Amino acid sequence: MNLSSGGGKEFDTYKELLTLYRSLLIIRSVKVFKVMETIDRSLFVTNATLAYVDSPMNIGHNATIPAPRTHAKCLELLKSNLRPGMRALDVGSGSGYLTACFAFMVGPNGRAVGVEHIPELAAFSTENIQKSPVAPLLERGSLSIDVGDGRLGWPECGPYDAIHVGAAAPEILQPLMDQLKPGGRLVIPVVRTVRGSSQQDLMVVEKCLNGSINKRCATSGVRYAPLTSCDAQLQGL
Ligand code: SAH
Repeated sequence: MNLSSGGGKEFDTYKELLTLYRSLLIIRSVKVFKVMETIDRSLFVTNATLAYVDSPMNIGHNATIPAPRTHAKCLELLKSNLRPGMRALDVGSGSGYLTACFAFMVGPNGRAVGVEHIPELAAFSTENIQKSPVAPLLERGSLSIDVGDGRLGWPECGPYDAIHVGAAAPEILQPLMDQLKPGGRLVIPVVRTVRGSSQQDLMVVEKCLNGSINKRCATSGVRYAPLTSCDAQLQGL
């Protein structure tokens, strides 16, 4: 183990980093440990030598792949809605890492869709997935990466058991709620203004079987880039 230039710990293997997360209870289940061990982060980053560092990394076009602990946390929040045969949507696929994890968890009889609005990043997601163990699911069509405005979701393949949003939204977006199955779960960072300054809450929203909606904040003070238009993102607004 070394100290990286970013100050975070750098591990020799991904398994070592995941084992630390397990001891810190960031990873709480065999299921999440197994999917993250299977989908190696080094295939999804721009600098593989820093893949096993506990920090985000720039992937170009003003986007970052989050720190692996953020991936672990979102997978833990969504795991019961990512069982074999289920349907999952990943808004803002970026590196493709979480879409690949979703595809592995829902398996060949499920459906995992990534939506990314920057065409070059959608291509990056696809190329990364092609190097990974879920590449056959791309071929088979149970995993796809599409270019589009994720604020509208991806109704063609819905409704979904699980929806994840990888960028901060101004509110819980109605098109995403509409594309959630009864019993489905949405994980979305939402911007909130507190005494003039904005902060973000990672929200878990459930559409209950009786049609009611349950919302809770899993973590406050998270930091995601905005869910926005292509132009605003490329101008760094
Ligand atoms: N979960 C991704 C996170 C990437 S960062 C990963 O693990 O790599 C957030 C991503 O959201 C960026 O790729 C950005 O281009 C994308 N994004 C931002 N606004 C979007 C929108 N309106 N529609 C689709 N993607 C969007």
